[in-house]
Amino acid sequence: MQTSFTDEQRQDPDIRLAESILRKCVHCGFCLATCPTYLVGGDERDSPRGRIYLMKEYFESGAGAKDVQTHLDRCLTCGSCETTCPSGVDYLHLADLGRTRLADAGVRARRVRWMRKALLALLTREWMFRAGLALGRWTRRLHGNLPRRIKTMTQLLPETRSRPVKVPAINEAQGPHKMRVILHLGCVQKTLKPGINEATVRVLTRLGCEVVTLKNFGCCGALADHLGENKRARKEARRNIKAILEASGDGFDAIVSNASGCGIALKDYGHLFRADEDVKADAEKIAEQTLDVSELLERLELGKPHPDRGIRVAYQASCTLNHGQRVHEVPKALLRHFGYEVVEPKDPHLCCGFAGTYSILEPARSNEFRTRKAKNLEVLGADVVASGNIGCITGLGSAMDVPVLHMIELIDQAMADLPEHKQ
Ligand code: SF4
Ligand code: SF4
Repeated sequence: MQTSFTDEQRQDPDIRLAESILRKCVHCGFCLATCPTYLVGGDERDSPRGRIYLMKEYFESGAGAKDVQTHLDRCLTCGSCETTCPSGVDYLHLADLGRTRLADAGVRARRVRWMRKALLALLTREWMFRAGLALGRWTRRLHGNLPRRIKTMTQLLPETRSRPVKVPAINEAQGPHKMRVILHLGCVQKTLKPGINEATVRVLTRLGCEVVTLKNFGCCGALADHLGENKRARKEARRNIKAILEASGDGFDAIVSNASGCGIALKDYGHLFRADEDVKADAEKIAEQTLDVSELLERLELGKPHPDRGIRVAYQASCTLNHGQRVHEVPKALLRHFGYEVVEPKDPHLCCGFAGTYSILEPARSNEFRTRKAKNLEVLGADVVASGNIGCITGLGSAMDVPVLHMIELIDQAMADLPEHKQ
């Protein structure tokens, strides 16, 4: 794509980055065929190519800010377009630049800005989120009288309340010690489904990993970044980097994420701090050391394949694992290794609609994508749905009758059935 930035504009490193991304797009339109928002509405401005064009105009001249905002808000940030694009257009980083620029320019109405800030505060502070969950469950009975966004939030809440779980700081390896890993406990997941962290610790320690958790290794910053709050995202990431550096004196082999939405953010720390020389090298190193839990399991000795468990699992590929981290086959191979039959829905590359705060901020579209995904999963007749991200698990869990679990919980169950692990 041809661009026409002035030399003065090019003094800004973000503009130089935007230009380098924009110039890679050759308008071929291949990405339209795999973009969920284009497929439902057929509006070019809700396609990757359309959004790229709108952003180009905005970056060059400041024109069309409101349009850019509207169509970026409708984007799921799923990354399906990046997987499809033959030219390697880095759409997600371009969208991040667009969102940050819009937020800095104060384009959004003040009321909406405050609502997004409140949402961010609620989701990333455990005590607030826990109180919000309790209130949400209580207000579910008022359904008819609630504003649409609040109603959507309450509908997504799991039926059952999770007890708070404190994962110990050090979890010793069982048997021969093979690795020392830092487990990222996250923010939303540890409140919504703390059993995922417990299952991860059990699986990894059984396989010879010492699992360390860090008090100040909290929210990865992804929620803030996707809302255009880049400064807040970097503040959270800096706190995490400091916590990891302080703990690295004893050495560790990997940082493990079991929420792919967080994993992709951690793997992107090098990019997030591209202009901060004081922290850039550490951020890049941490990004390189981060693995999704499935990637770590692939590196460990798993023993011989488990016998068939007679359980059919429908695998829901989360976008942040599938498109963002390019981890496609490993989770399915792991589930098969542990004795599960694995099936996949039609259009596995399309987003389930949860997409972080999208489910709350764009409830109608989110619901449409979720319903479609749930239908495609239901026809498979599976006993359980497995995914690698808390967003998919929460959204689909609210829309389906079969249980929706993290794949590590299924692996934990399979391991627990081995005679050597039975209590
Ligand atoms: S990130 Fe997803 S929704 Fe957004 S433009 Fe790309 S394919 Fe479409
Ligand atoms: S597939 Fe890539 S190069 Fe083609 S229009 Fe989409 S973003 Fe541009």
